[in-house]
Amino acid sequence: MIVLKIGGARGIVPSALAEDVALHVHRGQQLVLCHGGSAETTELAHALGHPPKFLTSASGHQSRYTDRETLEIFMMAVAGKINKTVVEALQTAGVNAVGLSGLDGRLVEASRKKAIKAIVDGKTKVIRDDWSGKIERVNTSLLNLLVDQGYTPVISPVVSGRQGEALNVDADRVAAAIAVSMRAERLVLLSNVSGLLQDVNEPESLIRSIPRHALYEYMQYARGRMKKKMLAAEEALAGGMREVIISDARSASPLSAALERKGTVIG
Ligand code: ADP
Repeated sequence: MIVLKIGGARGIVPSALAEDVALHVHRGQQLVLCHGGSAETTELAHALGHPPKFLTSASGHQSRYTDRETLEIFMMAVAGKINKTVVEALQTAGVNAVGLSGLDGRLVEASRKKAIKAIVDGKTKVIRDDWSGKIERVNTSLLNLLVDQGYTPVISPVVSGRQGEALNVDADRVAAAIAVSMRAERLVLLSNVSGLLQDVNEPESLIRSIPRHALYEYMQYARGRMKKKMLAAEEALAGGMREVIISDARSASPLSAALERKGTVIG
């Protein structure tokens, strides 16, 4: 079993990736795909006249402020358009993909962050109408049911809160949680960069390998959303995964290249 997270950023060609996924699936490789979609959510939020707001935590981390309207826009973008576009690309390539969110069948359960302390305009505020969560468990029986019958699940990061309410969580961490719970051999995180770069403006500065005990030292190179990938990698390794690969979604055969360990190999 391989868990593959596809980057939501621009510059990613789903059809090339779908063909490559098909190659592996037809050879009998079991796969679960996960995807995000923060760029599309931001775009749709602007189009619908509800521009995104971001919260900064006391420790300096930024996250999307997910009020109810934003949650609904998030569902439209990720559980709707993106999920179905990925399923369409896979079906066209001959892969029998099934698109689900983490809410369906309580596939991914999370606890809602009921009160978030955040710095807004320089002042600390307590936000109570946020619909984001912290992942707690993965319902592997539903995933196993699908995979055992030859389907390839495609999972979006809308997940289920304790009361069954929809919550927004980070897609890289959904992928890590699924990989750990499914005891996957590998977690592959594809993005619009070749891996973790020592200098984000210098594509030649790829870090090819990170021993698990040194992960923390390499965290300093990651800025912005790359930090989430490093955190996801850390969670996956802590959960017993052998290897996490951060690799380029833009190459001609992105999954094959990642499995040939092109990119940043952490383990
Ligand atoms: P995706 O949506 O594809 O999952 P993100 O956009 O969330 O990916 O994260 C990848 C982005 O992280 C890159 O496009 C890059 O701009 C940024 N980034 C920040 N620091 C680094 C780094 N050290 N190495 C590579 N990318 C980095």
